[in-house]
Amino acid sequence: MASALLRLRSAAAFRNFQFYFRAMSTSYLIDEPKYSFLKELGLDKVNVGVYDGKWKASGKTVTSICPANGRPIAEVQTGSVEDYDRCVQAAQEAWQTWADIPAPKRGEIVRQIGDALRAKLQPLGQLVSLEMGKILPEGVGEVQEYIDICDYAVGLSRMLEGRVLPSERPGHALLEKWNPLGVVGVISAFNFPIAVYGWNSAIAMVCGDVLLWKGAETTPLVSVATTKVIEEVLVRNNIPGAVCALCTGGADVGKAMSQDERVPLVSFTGSTKIGQTVALEVQKRFGKHLLELGGNNALLVNEDADLDMVSRAIIFACAGTAGQRCTTTRRLILHEKVYDEVLARLKKGYEQIINRVGDPLDSGILYGPMHSELGVEQFKKALTAAVEQGGKIEFGGKVINRPGYFVEPTIITGIAHIAPIVQDETFAPIVYVLKCSSIDEAILWNNEVKQGLSSSIFTKDLGLIFKWIGPKGSDCGIINVNIPTNGAEIGGAFGGEKHTGGGRESGTDSWKQYMRRSTITINYSKELPLAQGIKFE
Ligand code: NAD
Repeated sequence: MASALLRLRSAAAFRNFQFYFRAMSTSYLIDEPKYSFLKELGLDKVNVGVYDGKWKASGKTVTSICPANGRPIAEVQTGSVEDYDRCVQAAQEAWQTWADIPAPKRGEIVRQIGDALRAKLQPLGQLVSLEMGKILPEGVGEVQEYIDICDYAVGLSRMLEGRVLPSERPGHALLEKWNPLGVVGVISAFNFPIAVYGWNSAIAMVCGDVLLWKGAETTPLVSVATTKVIEEVLVRNNIPGAVCALCTGGADVGKAMSQDERVPLVSFTGSTKIGQTVALEVQKRFGKHLLELGGNNALLVNEDADLDMVSRAIIFACAGTAGQRCTTTRRLILHEKVYDEVLARLKKGYEQIINRVGDPLDSGILYGPMHSELGVEQFKKALTAAVEQGGKIEFGGKVINRPGYFVEPTIITGIAHIAPIVQDETFAPIVYVLKCSSIDEAILWNNEVKQGLSSSIFTKDLGLIFKWIGPKGSDCGIINVNIPTNGAEIGGAFGGEKHTGGGRESGTDSWKQYMRRSTITINYSKELPLAQGIKFE
């Protein structure tokens, strides 16, 4: 009897083990109670990644992997080039309806999208955190940025002003008017999987454009969930769904978009390398491009800086989002008189961060994983190069031994400001700490790299501040004083110069990039005076 029971028990244990093993190796996070927010967003174990008014896809199925544990979240059937083609056609048709809706009424639709996002703020923020790997307050903050830009766009929808200019000809009116472009293609990067689309789409929509979005291959669930939120608003208002079309997919879809004459503007956010190929393709067909590419941002500390402020700023600037913001501080340029003190404080801050590494969805966590295995490889490669080029690993430098893609926040010292690795953007939590003998030298170093995204100086010297923001100061698109290089506000135009691409998104007059300018002359007299007084009779 006892041995029969034992046999039964061990058979059950074996079955349990088998089930457990199978569940562990093939189960999806979407089925686990901790991730029930995924179902709140209308996501399934297998999702369709193409929307043109209907959900239908024929491309390859990809598995979205959670960077915090390396486990599959759910699957998405992505778009093929044929699906892409169908989306453009549907978007062009949708534009016929959308362009006729008055701008303030388009603004009302964007307002409703903002409200729909508000209702899903938490689950969408959790999804961003789960799929991208950034900590939850940043995931929620990203969705909030989309909501904020919706509010901004609603106001803008009543302010897309043209001009009336004095004509030199009697009985003539000279006007300048802005018209929409048509289909705007948005190709976005993994590190801001929702906000970048939000910045582009809210503004482009009030301008009268329709959108076709291709997000990063590794964040397809964010693209699908976001489009579902928008779809509900469009359907409720009887507006064609292809006003906000989606075609998830890889380089083939992005390439098709760059080469497509039916897409007058391609807004690209990503690496300088890919951005350049996209820009060349778009230029070949005389399309417009809006480029938001890589940065190599410096934070300068002058001898007179408030070092308490500096220490709080640099931890977030260098190690926040595990170094995966386009505006992350990659070069910390310290005046020799404060070098030792600031470096000591930075190391102390990093020691505290190491104790707050973990699942980005958990509260109290300050530092999450790299987004993918590729990121870990790039981290390791950059460190080998840095050491070869004379750098010393002052802190960190190792891959963290736990599931997922975690690496230590890393400080490199002793390397030359002109070392090739320092001149490059490595999209990882590595900061090069450089010692300068004067702040003028630091400004030269700030400007000597190819990229021109963000920059920051810490000083109390008013004269220096005005030099920094003037013609001989920082040559970046974002120039900060006494705040970190990261964390931009939507009210300002966002973007960078040189190899960062020159595009501007979000606030002020960025909307003009989503429209074409028409200069209009109307003769309301009964005469026909030709230009330059020419008589052609
Ligand atoms: P990436 O260049 O690898 O990919 C960006 C997008 O391009 C993805 O959607 C990808 O699928 C697509 N793509 C790939 N090949 C393509 C091709 N041949 N044609 C068209 N599209 C193609 O960039 P990433 O690794 O996702 O993101 C990190 C980079 O993005 C960093 O360099 C970072 O600085 C930059 N970035 C810049 C900003 C900014 O505002 N300046 C913001 C976020 C990220």
